[in-house]
Amino acid sequence: MEIKKKDIRALTKEQLRAFFADHGDKAFRGNQVYEWLWQKSAHSFDAMTNISKETRSMLEENFVINHIKVDQMQRSSDGTIKNAVRLHDDLVVESVLIPTDTRTTACVSSQVGCSLDCRFCATSRLKRMRNLNPDEIYDQVVAIDNESRLYFDRPLSNIVFMGMGEPLMNYNNVLKAIDKITSPEGLGMSPKRIIVSTSGVPKMIKKMADEEVKFGLAVSLHSAIDEVRTSIMPFNATFPLKDLRESLEYWYNKTKNRITYEYVVWEGINDTKDAVEALVKFCKFAPSKVNLIEYNPIDDGEFQQASNAAIAMYKNTLERNGITVTVRRSRGKDIDAACGQLANKS
Ligand code: SAH
Repeated sequence: MEIKKKDIRALTKEQLRAFFADHGDKAFRGNQVYEWLWQKSAHSFDAMTNISKETRSMLEENFVINHIKVDQMQRSSDGTIKNAVRLHDDLVVESVLIPTDTRTTACVSSQVGCSLDCRFCATSRLKRMRNLNPDEIYDQVVAIDNESRLYFDRPLSNIVFMGMGEPLMNYNNVLKAIDKITSPEGLGMSPKRIIVSTSGVPKMIKKMADEEVKFGLAVSLHSAIDEVRTSIMPFNATFPLKDLRESLEYWYNKTKNRITYEYVVWEGINDTKDAVEALVKFCKFAPSKVNLIEYNPIDDGEFQQASNAAIAMYKNTLERNGITVTVRRSRGKDIDAACGQLANKS
């Protein structure tokens, strides 16, 4: 039986150095290979041209490079690009490139499917199959950086963990990927240009705060009233708003980083005065801003975007209370690339 080869990118630099030292080579060879794997995103050992042929075939015997493959790329009429990304075990996730006049943002996935059950989100209808590895997250970013250079003549500028999955339920791998993305030995991007978005896992928010992470935090709030939030995001019964709030205060005290709340206003669900007032109150626990995002219908008509008047009421009330609000229009709707639409349809 053939022994399953190890994914070389699961090794740290130190482990790679030790591997070479153990195989009668210089530990420094580990640095060179590491650079090929991460900074240069080599897809094969043969691409490592400053490594001898013998060493390359020795690597080939011991390891694989499980690179992702962009199976299909779709372009929206607004310039948004969606990649269907095939993983080494043939599972597929999606990532999105969102261009504006001044930036290119990559929206990346952290899991195959999702274990949460937000009733308005298409991804929740896919079973969570597994967590993505750090290199699979990193590769999504590299693929989008390449597309940004190719189609928009500039490098990627921002990253949001708002694709498929709940990043805080794949915490270790997401953090490892961000380490690589921000390290000079990887992409060297500033952590300030990265946002991790969560449905709200209090224990993990506290853990991130304790680790003094430097990236931004967004929370998909959608309601500041437990009863309502549980009816649309059932896991709120397990992680109620009181615990979420407490973890966010903890986050702010440790990091001094303002929190972004993502919020969709739906007709008959949270388009009332009481709902806005609850949100205003919630926003006062820790410095924050609110992103009112447009609802992207996912099919059955159970959820409807609230009226313009309701959205204006939200905007005015929040602003009157000194809270920054942005109203975000969807991008990439025509190719099912907008928030909540990632479901491997094609
Ligand atoms: N699990 C994480 C990451 C997903 S981010 C989180 O919940 O934050 C995806 C964002 O899109 C979340 O803010 C989510 O609440 C929002 N969203 C989901 N379905 C949507 C839909 N149909 N229309 C608009 N936004 C949606």
